[in-house]
Amino acid sequence: MDDSLNGFTGFANKGQHSVPRYVRRDTGTYSDEPLQFDPNQLQDISPLDRRWAWVEIDLNAIKHNTQQIRSRIGRERRLLAVVKSDAYGHGAVRVAKMALNSGADYLGVATISEAIELREALINAPILILSQPPETAIPLLLGYKVMPTVYTPDFAIQYAETADAYGMDAPFHLAVNTGMNRIGVRFDEVVTFLQQISFHRALKLAGTFTHFATADESETLDFQRQFKRFVQAINAMTAAGFDPGIVHCANSAAAIRFPETHCDMVRWGISLYGLHPSSQTRPLIDLQPAMSVHARITDARFVPMSEGVSYGLHYRSPGSVKICTIPIGYADGFNRLLSSKTDVIFQGRRYKQVGNICMDQCMFEVDLRSRGSYRAREPQIGDEVLVLGRQGDAVITLDDMANTCGTISYELACNFGLRMPKVYV
Ligand SMILES: *Cc1c(COP(=O)(O)O)cnc(C)c1O
Repeated sequence: MDDSLNGFTGFANKGQHSVPRYVRRDTGTYSDEPLQFDPNQLQDISPLDRRWAWVEIDLNAIKHNTQQIRSRIGRERRLLAVVKSDAYGHGAVRVAKMALNSGADYLGVATISEAIELREALINAPILILSQPPETAIPLLLGYKVMPTVYTPDFAIQYAETADAYGMDAPFHLAVNTGMNRIGVRFDEVVTFLQQISFHRALKLAGTFTHFATADESETLDFQRQFKRFVQAINAMTAAGFDPGIVHCANSAAAIRFPETHCDMVRWGISLYGLHPSSQTRPLIDLQPAMSVHARITDARFVPMSEGVSYGLHYRSPGSVKICTIPIGYADGFNRLLSSKTDVIFQGRRYKQVGNICMDQCMFEVDLRSRGSYRAREPQIGDEVLVLGRQGDAVITLDDMANTCGTISYELACNFGLRMPKVYV
């Protein structure tokens, strides 16, 4: 026993009540009955009044970014809005509706569950799953009228037979592997594949597509080889008497950089959200980021000089700063690799995030000494802070954060969407 504890062994009443109970103050008795709150009244406490951290999605930016690509591809081509992973963290239903209202005709998702969410929100547009789901999901595809990507004969036949049993067609898009080597029928085996499955009357080839591995890179050789192989596959199909349906290959990067890849449809993913697939596209198109991340200060305190802050106490207070806490952490998508390497914006100025980012909270410092003519207003509990976004000239982007973490904006956007409430403006 540590002598400094002076024989202290704990509190006398420990373990007496395993569940806390609320005393009824009128009768003085304990009650196990639920407290009498109107459930509707509880429901009316908005997400922003429950926790001071939220993601704001600017739907006008979604509209702008949709119109930007629509004006480039013209009226005749189709535009597929990629809304997988809850629309890259932006909220699939709201984004899908706005994209469809602003010029998109098709939706792309990764999973059948993502597609069902859209159908249950009464979205009627064609939905393509961008990979081949397990055969066990086939009834869902037909029940919810969601098109799969197909590249194995087993799946194709099973899908066709299930559809046939219900007297339905089985529309699908064929994935062609032109060099990314992720999914698809190899470009020089497409005709053989179609001959293998074409006996089945229910199968309807609604589209044929491939996906580029390097459309965002400055070196274009691999991209060009893929595109050539894709054209070769389409030509072979046509020559063999197969109608490829809607021909598509362009992701955001290809759509912006290489108009010759627009074909019959463009798959607009990251740029729908106002983000650039790489620095290659930056000079070529005006995009507006739709996502910003906000929080309110939950604690603001002077920390004596040289005392540490957060797990590990790696940051030490210089004494002249106020340490402010905000309720956003790595479980909200605020990647822990950003610890002490990003800023937050408060009152239009950048301040250093300090100490390790925790699971649900993190801290930043506000230096209260005058800087030239500027002296920060003392931060107060409840003041709003910007973790991602723009305020006046101060801006923190997903690309900045991604560079710091050694990843891409796509991943960070998805993660910010995971737990925080979303506000649409
Ligand atoms: C995710 C995805 C896209 C969208 O790519 P972006 O780079 O976000 O535009 C397009 N096509 C396929 C097959 C995808 O999986």
